[in-house]
Amino acid sequence: MSHIPYTLSHIAGILQPESFIRQPGLVISQLVIDSRSVIDPEASLFFALSGKRDGHEFLQDAWDAGIRSFVISDRSCLERFPDANLLLVDDVLDALQKLAAYNRQQYGLKVLAVTGSNGKTVVKEWLYQLLAADFNIVRSPRSFNSQIGVPLSVWQINEAHNLGIFEAGISKAGEMDNLESVIRPEVGILTNIGEAHAEGFTSSAEKLLEKLKLFRGTELFIYCPEYTTGIAEKDLPGKNRFSWSMKQKADLQVLFTEPIEGRTYIRARYQGDEIECLIPFRDRASLENGIICWATLLALGYTPQEADIRLEKLTLVGMRLELKTGINQCSLIDDSYSADISSLAVALDFLNLQNQHPKKTLILSDLYETGKPDHVLYAEIAALLKQKQLNRLIGIGPHISAAAELFDLEKEFYNSTQDFIVNFPAVHFSNETILLKGARKFEFERISKLISQKIHDTVLEIDLNALAGNLQFYRSKLRPGVKLMAMVKAFSYGSGSFEIANLLQYHKADYLAVAYTDEGVALRKAGITMPIMVMSPEPSAFDAIIKYRLEPEIYNLDILKSFTAYLNEHERGYPVHLKLDTGMHRLGFDQPDIPELVNLLENLDKIKVASVFSHLVGSEEQVHDEFTKHQLQRYGDMAGQIAERLGYPFIRHISNTSGITRHPEAQLDMVRLGIGLYGFDGGLPGNKGLQTVAVLKTTVTQVKHIKPNETVGYSRRGVLPEGGTIATVKIGYADGYTRRFGNGVGQMLINGIKVPTVGSICMDMCMLNVTGLDVKTGDEVIVFDGRHTIADLAEQIGTIPYEILTNISQRVKRVYFYE
Ligand SMILES: *Cc1c(COP(=O)(O)O)cnc(C)c1O
Repeated sequence: MSHIPYTLSHIAGILQPESFIRQPGLVISQLVIDSRSVIDPEASLFFALSGKRDGHEFLQDAWDAGIRSFVISDRSCLERFPDANLLLVDDVLDALQKLAAYNRQQYGLKVLAVTGSNGKTVVKEWLYQLLAADFNIVRSPRSFNSQIGVPLSVWQINEAHNLGIFEAGISKAGEMDNLESVIRPEVGILTNIGEAHAEGFTSSAEKLLEKLKLFRGTELFIYCPEYTTGIAEKDLPGKNRFSWSMKQKADLQVLFTEPIEGRTYIRARYQGDEIECLIPFRDRASLENGIICWATLLALGYTPQEADIRLEKLTLVGMRLELKTGINQCSLIDDSYSADISSLAVALDFLNLQNQHPKKTLILSDLYETGKPDHVLYAEIAALLKQKQLNRLIGIGPHISAAAELFDLEKEFYNSTQDFIVNFPAVHFSNETILLKGARKFEFERISKLISQKIHDTVLEIDLNALAGNLQFYRSKLRPGVKLMAMVKAFSYGSGSFEIANLLQYHKADYLAVAYTDEGVALRKAGITMPIMVMSPEPSAFDAIIKYRLEPEIYNLDILKSFTAYLNEHERGYPVHLKLDTGMHRLGFDQPDIPELVNLLENLDKIKVASVFSHLVGSEEQVHDEFTKHQLQRYGDMAGQIAERLGYPFIRHISNTSGITRHPEAQLDMVRLGIGLYGFDGGLPGNKGLQTVAVLKTTVTQVKHIKPNETVGYSRRGVLPEGGTIATVKIGYADGYTRRFGNGVGQMLINGIKVPTVGSICMDMCMLNVTGLDVKTGDEVIVFDGRHTIADLAEQIGTIPYEILTNISQRVKRVYFYE
């Protein structure tokens, strides 16, 4: 392999730690920050970073995964892991950056760095597409651009590479210096500067100046002057500069842009001539990112003709793994974007987090990993597949086919995608999770079409990373040791069933809660093994509750008696949860019930009280704070009376989402997190700190021109006195877009512009007023997303986000993204 063989003693020489090394000659090839994503444990060095959770907590997991070498800052680990190779440093993150910076300095390759508020990843990926024909490129995986992502990216550099393209992002002042010393770019590219990530800085000027530190030592700086206003020319970085603009004189001055059949024609002035290019996208963001790439090609010395030829072939960057429903009861994870070992490891992890089918299949194309001979590359992959316990491999391409004998599992090989497609009827898929992963050249989207269920044009996209981020957000607010129950009732507030539960199980939530038994049964059938509480345990479902080890909420004496009677006489300690009414007046035991309840419980060996809980009625609003206190007090009294008589401990819980945010004293032993997971919190102004989980999209089916005084839709409710243009879109009240949104009350986004509804909402469709806009059949329409939010929609019709989310009907297909 062409990476410098870094031995532990070499690394110790670089980091100067206090070292306790048993295997000084051990060669390290992988730097690991998460024990779950190891590829080759022997050759991995684990960095115990402290983020929202302290990496030292995961040393045991890493050890169990086979890792033997660690960079730590907590001295107590020396005793806990006497047989490990330990490098004790003051600051683990700093050590990671130092090691990466060292690796960077060993090579003389040309390095491009990209930063900005938006578009970094797209620009980086597009430059890769544009330059791959001329260079052996190493680039940041996905959107690895943080204090941790950058060093991990730069660590990949080896002697086979002659060009590096890395992105850098910062969230607070002072961070860019570190990234600059790791990347040491020769060319700097500034992308769109928007409002993203303004937090962590006192002003946007401060933010920009911090960003520009990345380019301090560059030979060439490529930028748009509108994004650097307020900074004197002499203070801009770069020995040489290349500017582009759509508004003013610049090295590349865009004169006009015009959409043509889904593409954009661009004309510009460059070195005194008019030049042109065609970019295969229409939306504003892609257009701008395309122009940045155009400017970069020209600044690097490509001719306008060559740049035009290359830009026209740009393809969409889909960085996310997509989980969808497949044919024959299969789930499909679609990833036809990047085919290298590190992204394969991430995809396999996501595959392994799926429990809903017994079998796991990987369809994999030839991989392109610069600087590794085939036998080494495929042996590594074979080891990875073994480690991740894959059941079947379908290899596509001459290289992987030639390495067939290296793979020790059920396998079949095809020379090309076409070969596979021709043979498709003979390939058997049923009740399995299929990971589809191929280099772009293999056009695996053709395979995806064959094995995924057709998705209608209206889809609810769920961002699983955002959901995991929201989970971490609330976790970081909990006192150590407080447990977390994740509320996945009502199809996880409309967002999914096992898809969400798999993720929560993986992230080690302590409990799940569903409303009805059948929701719990569905989760068990999909392989969810963690404890599940059922809030409305109907007697007709006791059988299923017991069969699937679900834990009923007991809210009155009748349920308690009938459930106990139902249990087998040999049953001991079946877990149940007692619900107390402290003011909600919905379900639960009242104070006067308590004596009889405890009398009964004392003599019941069959069941065990796992927890005692209540529910806050107004945790999000200050006006109810007095009442919240009163509820807590009541809860404390009642739970205390139960505890006194039971003689064994149980979990106490009362807080919901806003309770966590606004009432730290109500955390008790556990909290129940609901709507916050999905990105909303009535107790958190502007939902600050939460990420958007759900995006609802549909498409334009037809565009019509309406004459003055004609009407639109049922009962002639839609009136356009001046005439105009309407777009019919494929979503109606049967999808959950209620009739209350009709007649201009609701709005949707088309090509970034908000447009109102016209006329009544129909069952499967509705009409939007797009007068004066460039809208075509097939255009994407956003019903809600992170900009035009569910909270906005809720306000338009006077309801709450909970109702908007849970209303989206089951016929709207859900697609899950993970990166
Ligand atoms: C739905 C529910 C929750 C979660 O409430 P959020 O406001 O969504 O966090 C908690 N506890 C009970 C009993 C619930 O029914």
